[in-house]
Amino acid sequence: MALPTENVGSLPRSSTLQATIADYDAGRISHDELAAAQDAACRDSIRRMEATGSPIVSDGEQRESSFATYPLTDTLAGTGLAENLAADGQYFAIFTDGHHRQLPRLTGGPFRYQTYAAEFVAKALPMAARPLKQAVIAPSMLALLYPLDEDVPGYKRDRFLEDLCDECEKDIRQCFDAGAARVSIDFTEGRLACRNDPRNPWTGRGMLNHFIELNNNVLDRFTAEERRNIGIHTCPGGDCDATHSADVDYAELLPSMFRMNAGYFLIQLASEPDKERVYRLIGEHSRDDANGVPQVCFIGVINPQNPRVETPSEICDDLLLAAEFIPPARLGSTDDCGFSPFSIDVKPKHGSPDIARDIAFEKIAARIAGTGMAAQHLGL
Ligand SMILES: [Zn+2]
Repeated sequence: MALPTENVGSLPRSSTLQATIADYDAGRISHDELAAAQDAACRDSIRRMEATGSPIVSDGEQRESSFATYPLTDTLAGTGLAENLAADGQYFAIFTDGHHRQLPRLTGGPFRYQTYAAEFVAKALPMAARPLKQAVIAPSMLALLYPLDEDVPGYKRDRFLEDLCDECEKDIRQCFDAGAARVSIDFTEGRLACRNDPRNPWTGRGMLNHFIELNNNVLDRFTAEERRNIGIHTCPGGDCDATHSADVDYAELLPSMFRMNAGYFLIQLASEPDKERVYRLIGEHSRDDANGVPQVCFIGVINPQNPRVETPSEICDDLLLAAEFIPPARLGSTDDCGFSPFSIDVKPKHGSPDIARDIAFEKIAARIAGTGMAAQHLGL
């Protein structure tokens, strides 16, 4: 296909898998039994994603506690939490429906990942006939593990940030070494950093520039050729069919975001009220040359928080309008977010995670079809 198209990463875990995770948390089943259920879920995810015609697939993050906590804990309930962490960290986000997600808190050094995403790649690769992608978490998100104001005894913040960037670099490199074709970095905290929500103090500290610098610290360790296949994902969050920062104006984020020297960007857009304005901003601020690599902009054409399946012609229309502002050679399509970034997600607007899982594959198939139509219209 002449217009590239790629998913973000996650798919809903079936209600059976979510119940299996709860059984593991309660000590009713062994880790081997959980792993067997995750294996089956990854195999099913890859098979069904390949059946949509998708040129690149993921394992749906079926083994991960969440997009952000996979390096730190085996389950969202905290089973298998890594050393030097306590469960009572700061809120990562408060969502529009009032629920929140909390991060662990760093209690000492040195900071090390317990699980690298390459473990997921190694297990998924033999299941896939198509190229495999893996999403990883950004250093900017994990920087929030360090308490906002206090020092961790014996472990200065600067030292932590050095260790953190080393771990993130290792996470990405190991994914490629394990056989991933592409690695995208989840950066949902970027837009949230502009929100200034008094209930969630870190969002009021003007941390966006710090986040961009941290992420560039890691990106700049890779060659231009490597960075062609390293992406950044931005979104206003997606959990339990709710968002955390959709009210933040994209104009506050995008000029900074495109300062990151990544080769591609997966950008939530289908759920934006004024898409044309955002296409224009992307056209203005994305770069042909980000330290040796063009920034390819994958625009969101699918809203994973809404059960209505977008039609291929709607998707085609979105891409054709976007192509008026973004050079077609740097245009692609994606979903607004993962379909379930957190493992435990009942997908309330869909009725159940099982229905949401079926709908996700329908939506991906529509994205592939609509993107093909747009490529044809554009003569690519
Ligand atoms: Zn997202």
